[in-house]
Amino acid sequence: MAGLSKADPHAPAMSEKIGLSSVDLTDRERGYARDAIDRGWISSAGDYVSRFEVAVAERCGRSRAIATSSGTSALDLVLRALDIGPGDEVICPALTFAAPASAIVAVGAVPVFADVTENSWTLDPCSVEAVRSARTKALIAVDVLGHPCDYDALGALGIPIVEDAAEAHGAGYRGRPVGSFGRAAVLSFHANKTITTGEGGCVLVDDAALAERIGLMNNHGMSASDPYVHTEIGRNYRMGNVCAAIGLGQVQRWDELVAGRRRVAKAYDDALSGTSLSQRPVAEWAEESVWLYTVLAERTDDRASILAACRADGIDARAIWPALPDLELFRAGARGDYRVAREIAARGIWLPTWSSMTDDQIDRVVTAVCVGLAD
Ligand SMILES: *Cc1c(COP(=O)(O)O)cnc(C)c1O
Repeated sequence: MAGLSKADPHAPAMSEKIGLSSVDLTDRERGYARDAIDRGWISSAGDYVSRFEVAVAERCGRSRAIATSSGTSALDLVLRALDIGPGDEVICPALTFAAPASAIVAVGAVPVFADVTENSWTLDPCSVEAVRSARTKALIAVDVLGHPCDYDALGALGIPIVEDAAEAHGAGYRGRPVGSFGRAAVLSFHANKTITTGEGGCVLVDDAALAERIGLMNNHGMSASDPYVHTEIGRNYRMGNVCAAIGLGQVQRWDELVAGRRRVAKAYDDALSGTSLSQRPVAEWAEESVWLYTVLAERTDDRASILAACRADGIDARAIWPALPDLELFRAGARGDYRVAREIAARGIWLPTWSSMTDDQIDRVVTAVCVGLAD
């Protein structure tokens, strides 16, 4: 064919690229999605949505789950349903993906950052106490990278808690599942999360009135009994039935998907234990469920050479997020020195992690990391 040259027989064999994460889908998810399509039920009115909601609520020990279009839209609904808006402050950890901070800004409130602890990388209750003010309306407790927050200590502060368990499906705090803490919790089902619907999220609540209000706000503010009499400014953040069908298959494989990531983390832990890299902390209260496997390089320079060696072998290892108060966008909420979050931000590295990663793929990542450490 014109314009296409034959492969160069002398070119070095290109090894397969290894992405930061990947999905793990089977005939179960495929079968449910196909069934939804074959029956023509593809909007949020389909039955997989409610089946998925029931299954997720049960897994997380909550009475209700409300499926949404993303974890971010779930956060938006929760903050609005708690009447958080202009003039209010919401405390957020300095070390997290930015979605909770952005959701706070989106409702007109100010995200005020607290530092995290060295022994859990989650919200430091002392730092929360130091940054709170008369305007503080809530705190968003992020179960970062699959590690639960210290809920007894955070609860003792008396600030309403919203749990962001987007990265922690399957983790537990003293025997209780994440997603069950606070006035409301959210999960994300983005394709890089442990349980996925492609794009998607949910709100988890116990309070029936709050559940009803969030359900209404998620559905144009329309009541079921009187659909066109709108009593609430609504949004449409609903999840569609094909996504929920995929999600139901994933929830039925919950233990397998969580165990798969733990297996990968254990293999990395064993292979890297003799190196200068330090491993993530696991606090005594935590049953972690690893989302992205994270290590700390001794110095920022070491991190750069590890990332370069990975890149050279087609491996998408990455530097962790910057500390959020260091982003121009969130400066207004900076109060303190964020010593721990900045230290992790300067030296943290994510290695590729997903549940069906093979031993060969893990070995290749480990080899590249060791090459980088030797450079
Ligand atoms: C992924 C993530 C979200 C956002 O989820 P989306 O479904 O991508 O909107 C929220 N919070 C945290 C901590 C996340 O990691």
